[in-house]
Amino acid sequence: MVSAEHIVKRFGSHTVLKDISMTVRRGEVACLIGPSGSGKSTFLRCINHLESINGGRMWVDGSLIGYRQRGDKLYELSPTDAAKQRAGIGMVFQSFNLFPHMTVLENVIEAPTRVKRVKKAAAVSRAMELLDRVGLAHKAKAFPSHLSGGQQQRVAIARALAMDPKLMLFDEPTSALDPELVGEVLEVMKGLAQSGMTMIVVTHEMGFAREVGDALYFMDAGVVVESGEPRAVLADPQHERTRAFLSRVL
Ligand code: ATP
Ligand code: MG
Repeated sequence: MVSAEHIVKRFGSHTVLKDISMTVRRGEVACLIGPSGSGKSTFLRCINHLESINGGRMWVDGSLIGYRQRGDKLYELSPTDAAKQRAGIGMVFQSFNLFPHMTVLENVIEAPTRVKRVKKAAAVSRAMELLDRVGLAHKAKAFPSHLSGGQQQRVAIARALAMDPKLMLFDEPTSALDPELVGEVLEVMKGLAQSGMTMIVVTHEMGFAREVGDALYFMDAGVVVESGEPRAVLADPQHERTRAFLSRVL
């Protein structure tokens, strides 16, 4: 589903991603961990071409991301074509970014009706299904400011799912939450994983990585230092840098 080959990303003279390769098969959950500044968010942003890359190739579901290849040359997609590609990839951030002036339901139907031109009645019925799935159908008419952080994040997940993504990217989805609200969001993500969604999750929740992840990648300073089956990496890290990081977070 996702194939990243030797991704390089620079900001000016700073090479943030040095050579990142990753394969995530359909239905798999890949978890990404690593210290602040190691490039985790930048890598996620490269997957849906919110950042253009300086080297390597990225494919999602067989499509080259962000570029069109002709012969050996790559040509960057137009903003419209990049946006079309991006519409198939859901993203959930640390800050929920719901539209504050819209109800929960309006938030969820916004992209399908506006971007995909889905008819309102169909979008509403699908949105109610998704809100039910994240346990918030009863909050459809509420405004985001009246919800807890955990509820807002669950709405953000439903909103991303409303576009029927083939891949979901999560960037520290529980980091901004009070500890007692983390579990409800992780439960929704676990359910999503069990339903077969392909997911890449940047997280500090090692319990989630261990229980739900199919693979765990430890990134540091723009490289994948170590990767493997989550239980194995967590129980028996092979590299000193991984050990040092895990001893700080576990
Ligand atoms: P955190 O755990 O704090 O979220 P991260 O692993 O997600 O960290 P990134 O946000 O990907 O790290 O940042 C990696 C490096 O890239 C950092 O040094 C950051 O300052 C730099 N960086 C990120 N975005 C930009 C940008 N738009 N322009 C310049 N530098 C950037
Ligand atoms: Mg980040």
